[in-house]
Formats: sequence, C-alpha cells, structure tokens
Amino acid sequence: MRSILFILLVSSTVTNSQNTFPQDYFANPLEVPLVLAGNFGELRSNHFHSGLDMKTQQREGLKVLSSADGFVSRIKIAHFGYGKALYITHPNGYTTVYGHLQKFSPEIEAYIKKQQYEKESFEVELVPTAETLPVKKGSLVAYSGNTGGSGGPHLHFEIRDKEERPMNPMLFGLDVKDTSKPVVQAVYAYALDENASVNNSNTKQKLRLTPLKTGDYTTENVEAYGNIGFGIETTDRQDLAANSNGVYNIQTFVNGSQNYEVDFGMFSFDESSCINQFIDYEHYMGSRQRIQKLFRKNNPLSILKPIFNDGILSVKDSTSSVYKIRVSDYKNNESVVTINIKGKKSSISTPKPEKTTPYYIVADQSTNLKSGNVSVDFYPDTFYENFYMDFDVKNDTLTLHKDVVPTRKNFTINYDISNYKDADKDKLFIARLVGYKKYPSYSFTKRNGNVLTTSTKTLGTYALASDTEKPTISALNFKDGQWLSDFRFLKVKIDDALSGISNYRATVNDQWILMEYEYKNKTLTYDFNDNVVGNGTNNFKIIVTDNVGNSATFEAVFYRK
Ligand SMILES: [Zn+2]
Repeated sequence: MRSILFILLVSSTVTNSQNTFPQDYFANPLEVPLVLAGNFGELRSNHFHSGLDMKTQQREGLKVLSSADGFVSRIKIAHFGYGKALYITHPNGYTTVYGHLQKFSPEIEAYIKKQQYEKESFEVELVPTAETLPVKKGSLVAYSGNTGGSGGPHLHFEIRDKEERPMNPMLFGLDVKDTSKPVVQAVYAYALDENASVNNSNTKQKLRLTPLKTGDYTTENVEAYGNIGFGIETTDRQDLAANSNGVYNIQTFVNGSQNYEVDFGMFSFDESSCINQFIDYEHYMGSRQRIQKLFRKNNPLSILKPIFNDGILSVKDSTSSVYKIRVSDYKNNESVVTINIKGKKSSISTPKPEKTTPYYIVADQSTNLKSGNVSVDFYPDTFYENFYMDFDVKNDTLTLHKDVVPTRKNFTINYDISNYKDADKDKLFIARLVGYKKYPSYSFTKRNGNVLTTSTKTLGTYALASDTEKPTISALNFKDGQWLSDFRFLKVKIDDALSGISNYRATVNDQWILMEYEYKNKTLTYDFNDNVVGNGTNNFKIIVTDNVGNSATFEAVFYRK
C-alpha cells in the first residue's frame, strides 16, 4: 500500500513540473469571475470539447476582452458551429478563440459589415493582416452571445498552439476554484477476447461500486481470466457551479505499476472524432452514458498514453492482483477506485458466438456493398475494427447496420434514381430515418445525372424522400404598407419542413441587405443602423430556397422618414 501511495505522489508532481506553458500571459476574457459550464476535453457528441465554456450570468452582451496582446487573425461567421467567432493571434505563437458571440467591438463590427456587404453574405470567413486589427490585452473585442450551435448564453474560449491544436487553457494558469474530488458514477470490466472472462462472463460486467468515507471507492472482488480491461464513468464539479464537467486525468495501476493514462491536456481536431472509439459507443447509443475505456484498441487518439500493454491486463489462473484507477481534476483533487482481481479460469467453455452476416467489413480495406438501386462505398479505415455488417435494401429503404459501431471517416451512399419520373427526380433527397418514428432527416445530397450521393459518418437506416413544398416566409415585426421610421430591426421568420433551408437573399429596392440568420428561432434580422435603407418608400423582397431547390418569394412595402 505504501509503495502505491508513493508512486501516486511522484506521478502527480511530474505532471505539474512538466508544465512549461506561459503562466499569467492569458487573462480571463470576461469581467465576471470564471465559472465553467463546460471544460476542456469534456466528452461531447462525436467530439471532445476544445475549450472552456465560460458562464455569462445567463445573459448575452457581456464584454469580451482580448486575453492578451495580439491581432485579429481570423473572423468566422457561420449559421452553425461557433456562430460569430473571433480569433486573436498572439506574439508568443498561440491563438485565442472566442465563440458564440453576439456582436463585435464597433471597429471590428464595421470591418466585418463592409466585407459582408461586398460579398453579399452573412456567413463570411475573413483573415485580416496583422496590421489591420491589432488588439491589446484587456481591450474590448466583442460581446458574449448565444450564436451558432450554442444551447444558452456563454462564451466558448480556446487557446490553440501554432499547429492549431486546442490546448487545455488551465495549463496557462487560468484559475477556477475547485476543491471537490471527481465523482465516479460506474466502473465496468470487459473481457477482451473470446477466451477471457470476468465474473464468469464473456460480456462486460458492471461492478458494484462502494464509496468510502475518504471519497475513494472499492468494488467487489473480481474473478477474471485472460485479457481484460476496465472502463469508468466519471465527472468533476467545480466550486462555483452546480453542473458537472469532465475530469483532467485518469491513471491506472496494476500492483503499483502504472499501465495506462488518459490526459486531457491537448489534442488535434482531426482526432476528435476518435472519442467514439474511446468511449463504449454501443453502450452510449443505448443509454447516453459515456464509459471511458481504460484500455486501447485500434485508437490513434493522442490523449491516450498506453504505458503497458495498452492498458490491457493479462490475468493468469490462481493469481491475485490489485488494480487501481486514479481520477483527478486540474487542481489535483483525486479519487481512487481499488479493485482486487482473483485470477480464475472460468467454467464458461464456449462464449456466445458473434452474430454473422454475409458482409464482413475489414477495417483497413475498402468495401462496396450493392443491392438494387443502392450502393455504399466504405474506404480503408472508415472503421476502427473488423465486424459483420447488417446490410439490406427493400424498396428504397437501406438498412446499414445500426448506429452502434463508431466510424472514423465518412463513407458514401449512392441511390440510382433512373426509375423515377423526371419531374419527381428534382425533389428527391437522401434522408436518414431517425428515432422511433423514423422521421426523415435531410442528409446533404448531391445529384449527378441519375445518381444521388450523400457522404456521412453515421450508420443506420436511410431512404429516399421527396420535398415538394416551398419554404415558408412571414414578417415577424411589421406589416405590408407600414411606417417603420422608429424601427431598429426588420425581422422575418423562415422555415422549411423537410429538406431545410439552403439559402436566402433579401433586398430593399433591389439592393442587397444583410440579414443575420439565427437557426434556433428561424429568424432573419436586418439592422436599420446599417444605413443602407433610405427614407420614403421601400420595397422589401426576400427569396428563400430549400435544399432541393424549391423557392419562395416574399415582398412587402414599408415607409421611413
Ligand atoms: Zn464550447
């Protein structure tokens, strides 16, 4: 016991002394205390969270300050993702990112609007030169908001290195009070091949977790044989918020020797989707609970540090060993789970055979599956592991396994639509059928002659769907023929029932006007302060087109003086 404690102490000291990142260089970009709605590395849908989600007192419009001296190096305004986002590059090579912004400082806002009017597009991506928009540490650059894929007002803040890799901002000395230990919700044991067993079973076993007074945990003694591994559900809470965030580090030890580590220090965006191979994906799709696997199988993810045998234990008959999982947060509060393992050859002789199908997928090879008018192309390394795929086509419905196998890359689905009437072909798209009700959800579809193609990462059920309805457009805060002299904004609601909105174009007296699109409330907003609408009679016109090309036009007259 004493030797294990000693190793734990040494390893945590090493973690801190390896921290060579500049401290006190980056300041809190908000004027309110740092409270996190989400932290770095946190497990999200198909990705690891790449920054800190800073709480903004449940409102928008808080001042966002440059975290350090530098220059605005990139501005991206998008309907989804980070919404309105600002990138500031600093002389030390790092870049800070500010996402889901409501608007920018007057100087930056003017720069962007000029470009938006030139390009006639709300969505823009701009890369100003170093001289264009220099900023000082603490200077106002933007206001916090809720734009893009944000579920409530907050500031998404990132620090990236020269290679555009997101780094854990806590490594740079940002301070968030945290005095409580990580919480462990569940521990699982996995038999990792057909000859292995855990508690007399070849399938994964949830262990009985007993919390101790110290905040640590034990489980029942585990009887195991062969190659096994463990998985953990764990979260951490900081002092000033009720919500749970992700942990910082997980280490495992066998009889005192470290054999595995997961470290949420940094990663790169192109490996972020490997999260689905890191968690027990099938378990997640069934329960929405994320078991983090403490062993590595076919996963290149750099946050995984396989120290011995990829974290896999080879348990021999008539042995006993102690397995420990140490979970810690950034402030080094730690919780330890201790599991005693008894090596015992199991009485189960033949484990349940894997369900086979005629479609065996070899992960590192390409595969083409074809039936009727549907073909599917998988490229090498679309999947992490070999498996038997369910594949079936009935009428236009494609069953492509279930979304329980993680994918690493996109694959393509092609539908031959030659059998359809020409008039109908134009309205067709490929839909993924989602949920219990099999609702058709638009999957971005390209048409080349008689072939419709979609590129996707998601297994499941697909079908052809048809959208014959135009988008809908309605005025939100005005009526046709109204005087709008004192109005600050002009608001319109747009929607499309099936394939979704592809683009919109609004003009006043045939001149393009900037309307900002917020997909969450389906609203387009024009700001009269843009000063492109004059006094007198104004003819407002907007054309909205959906993803198969149905388009709708709305016109109204308004007056200003
Ligand atoms: Zn975020």
